Amino acid sequence: MAGANHHRCIKLVLVGDIYVGKTSISRRFIDDIFHDKYQASVGGLFQAKTLREPNVTVQLWDTAGTEKFRALLPHFMRDAMCAILVYDISSRDSFENIKSYWLDFVELNAIPNMVKFLVGNKADVETRAVSDSEGRRFAKNRNMLFMETSAKVGVNVETLFIEAAKAVVKAI
Ligand code: GDP
Ligand code: MG
Repeated sequence: MAGANHHRCIKLVLVGDIYVGKTSISRRFIDDIFHDKYQASVGGLFQAKTLREPNVTVQLWDTAGTEKFRALLPHFMRDAMCAILVYDISSRDSFENIKSYWLDFVELNAIPNMVKFLVGNKADVETRAVSDSEGRRFAKNRNMLFMETSAKVGVNVETLFIEAAKAVVKAI
């Protein structure tokens, strides 16, 4: 029925320090379920995958992570409906850099109503430097959703993208 079930394509970006696991999260998500396409793009890569519920195609952009790439970040951010800000729960620095750099960067380049998702990755690692409650509290104070993931073990990665897509559908 026309209009009953609009299929949407939503752009999500992964940001955060190098080595926190952005590419691993992306691969875990894309390869575990249906793989639509893989495409190189200026200053980054995006891959797309269609979810059933909600019925959207997620276009997931992953940074190259280099300093050189920073100049292209505004392009990378353009029309992103959700920013996934990733830190490594075993790296205090990667969490502090969300606070001091990545969140401001995202907010400066965000479209209105953009969904922000704070993600503590490497939840399988035992040498924890950031507690779950600290991550959760910071996310709540700054109007972000929050989840801990492990791209290695495959914990919460699919849930993360489903929750992000649901929040985007609600926001638009
Ligand atoms: P990126 O630079 O943010 O894209 O990070 P990568 O995805 O390249 O991952 C950096 C390193 O962390 C690699 O050695 C990964 O194998 C490792 N890694 C990524 N995710 C996890 C995770 O959930 N748990 C553990 N233990 N290691 C991870
Ligand atoms: Mg990477």
